[in-house]
Amino acid sequence: MSLDPKRTIAELKELRALTSDENGAQRVAWTDTWLKARAWFLSKLSDLPVEQHYDSAGNNWVTLPGASEKALLIGGHLDSVPNGGWLDGALNVLAGLEVLRRFASEFHGRPPVTIRLVDWADEEGARFGRSLLGSSAFAGTHSIAADRGRADRDGVKMEDALRRCGVEIDRFPEAESERKNASAYLELHIEQGPVLESLGLPLGVVLGTKGVERHNITFHGQEAHSGSTPMNARHDALAAAAKLALEIRTIAGKHADAVCTMGSLKTFPGIVTAVVGRCEATLDQRDLNAGVLAQMYREAQEASRRFAAEEKCTVEWSRLWNIEPVPFHPELLNLCEEAVRETSESTHRMPSGPLHDAAEVSRAGIPTVMMFVQSLNGISHNKIEDTRQEHLEMSVIALDKLASKTVDWILK
Ligand SMILES: [Zn+2]
Repeated sequence: MSLDPKRTIAELKELRALTSDENGAQRVAWTDTWLKARAWFLSKLSDLPVEQHYDSAGNNWVTLPGASEKALLIGGHLDSVPNGGWLDGALNVLAGLEVLRRFASEFHGRPPVTIRLVDWADEEGARFGRSLLGSSAFAGTHSIAADRGRADRDGVKMEDALRRCGVEIDRFPEAESERKNASAYLELHIEQGPVLESLGLPLGVVLGTKGVERHNITFHGQEAHSGSTPMNARHDALAAAAKLALEIRTIAGKHADAVCTMGSLKTFPGIVTAVVGRCEATLDQRDLNAGVLAQMYREAQEASRRFAAEEKCTVEWSRLWNIEPVPFHPELLNLCEEAVRETSESTHRMPSGPLHDAAEVSRAGIPTVMMFVQSLNGISHNKIEDTRQEHLEMSVIALDKLASKTVDWILK
């Protein structure tokens, strides 16, 4: 039985039918639909000579033992954002499964090194605002104290939602034991942006993931009657936030690949007859260069204080989360480039704006690389997310070639 990329696509469609509705994929981590996706995935393993278990952070490990205990890790995530696409995260897992099957078949159940497929728990952070949860537990960069108090928009505490799925937040550190013998980590992912399509390339080599600064910014003004309060007597918290929302475009615009996004804005009391007394915004800033990222963060803080003063308000910042830029392993980058070139002739090296579990694995000191496959119209986190079928098949083939090359590299 050799590699069958068409089976990967058929399985992706099967998963979509099982876990999507008319608005897209609904595999939000720690929900019933996510558990359904995971149960479906387990059913795909029954014919394989593998060991399977969930670690203490809820990551699902599928291990094909090899002649050497040294392990090649291949990862992805079955969880999605609400109303998400059919490929984000799931392609990685199911392409990895196909590669695992190929190793099991070619080497009669015993490849030269151990092959481990991992479905990370809660990559998206869609419900509790904490991305890369499972992989950060693996990497030892988890933040239990900060995460314990998180709640979803219905007030359900993260700690309780995890417990319902059999995960105790205090036991996260035990997931670090999965790092034993890990010699390399590979992750295939849809690009989720427009670059490869604009270059006419099916596949790309990912240089690393951009660093991120993610903050809550709260402007405090004064609630006042919208009829009786003269314009010059207002302490309008929304006005200050609105000025910042425009300024971040200038701040990001000074650097080639930098991005800044104000993705959420809430006003209080939030009624048509009151000046906004309090405005809560979120800011997400990213770049592959740590110096650029630090500069953008500083400039946004300075601007927020300036705009708060102009509107007779005050401002406070609280960090939601951050991660430094993570460059991938130079030798694995070369192997990835070879695999892409052998599959599609030409290739391109690019940074990743979106975060991926690969960043956490790399931070744990495990040689890591990612491969991108083209996204149509650069759209992701949306039900219209798509990739051409022939490109999906090429991505499975290229990941398989990369896996073989990496096994040889591990044994060198
Ligand atoms: Zn993803």
